[in-house]
Amino acid sequence: MAEDKRECVKVVIRCRPMSRQETIDNREKIVDMDIQNGLARVRRPGTNDYKDFTFDAVYDETAVQTDFYEHTGYAIVESVMDGYNGTIFAYGQTGTGKTHTMVGPAEPEEDRGVIPRAFGHVFRNVDVGGNRTFLVRASYLEIYNEEIRDLLSKNPKQKLDLKDHPDGGVYVKDLTIMIVKGVRDLQQVMEVGQKNRSVASTLMNNESSRSHSIFTVTVEILEKGLDGQDHVRVGKMNMVDLAGSERQSKTGATGDTLKEATKINMSLSALGNVISALVDSKTSFIPYRDSKLTRLLQDSLGGNTKTVMCACIGPVDYNYDETLSTLRYAHRAK
Ligand code: ADP
Ligand code: MG
Repeated sequence: MAEDKRECVKVVIRCRPMSRQETIDNREKIVDMDIQNGLARVRRPGTNDYKDFTFDAVYDETAVQTDFYEHTGYAIVESVMDGYNGTIFAYGQTGTGKTHTMVGPAEPEEDRGVIPRAFGHVFRNVDVGGNRTFLVRASYLEIYNEEIRDLLSKNPKQKLDLKDHPDGGVYVKDLTIMIVKGVRDLQQVMEVGQKNRSVASTLMNNESSRSHSIFTVTVEILEKGLDGQDHVRVGKMNMVDLAGSERQSKTGATGDTLKEATKINMSLSALGNVISALVDSKTSFIPYRDSKLTRLLQDSLGGNTKTVMCACIGPVDYNYDETLSTLRYAHRAK
């Protein structure tokens, strides 16, 4: 039992390269990765005082997108094509590479992230076909301030409700669901959603987002069984770019912004609690209901699903506190 749980939740760390500015400023590198042993070491700036954390895998600045995908998203898509659900999260402080990991730049193609790679992977499977036919759908939403917004809607300001199905399960009422026939359709869905994604600037990074965005690809598999009957299975992959995990003090938030930050941290801590309960073989109660994020993803976390939590960190001194707190969060989820 415990063995199974560990297998279905994978926690990995990814450290981005030093930025140009950090190099110019001659910043002190405080993160070291031992890739062989899945070990991340972070040193208190200006000292030899370090802390070690081990994970299922660690990726340093030399890790390329294709390797990252092969070890994380790949297995999730494979099981989605067999009718199971899965989720991959990017967690971390703003500016550490969450969006780079999930989306990446459009060009060059080898730098593309998990989401566009999953598109190609899904449709390579669809094209192989065999005795199976597939129907692929996509939706894209964000959770901002514990409110759900449809990133594909003509009216993205409208708040949507989370509803319980009478026969179990949770769904977002009135969410746009697009039927997609190929990679290009998915790409288009992603681009529309990204344009709509509401971003609030913080003092740390104008591009920073305080919302969690969830891109979901649903695959309906129709298969002729040996009995000649059609069997239908449904798999679902959620790709989640979480809001920045930084504490509000560092971003200089006040008033409404502070309220927002508190709610964001609430869903991040609820997610941490859910994942840590999933990997803890002694706990059977999973606190899904504590946030919109965890309620929404309830059927894709735990049970027969595959989950990858990728915690992103920066390599240098001035992020020491946040880096340590990200490693602690991720380690707790392990
Ligand atoms: P976040 O989404 O966590 O705020 P971003 O993904 O926007 O962070 O990354 C911040 C900056 O660092 C971007 O300019 C991005 O291109 C760069 N970056 C992040 N991770 C990597 C990486 N692994 N390799 C190269 N550049 C990266
Ligand atoms: Mg981002």
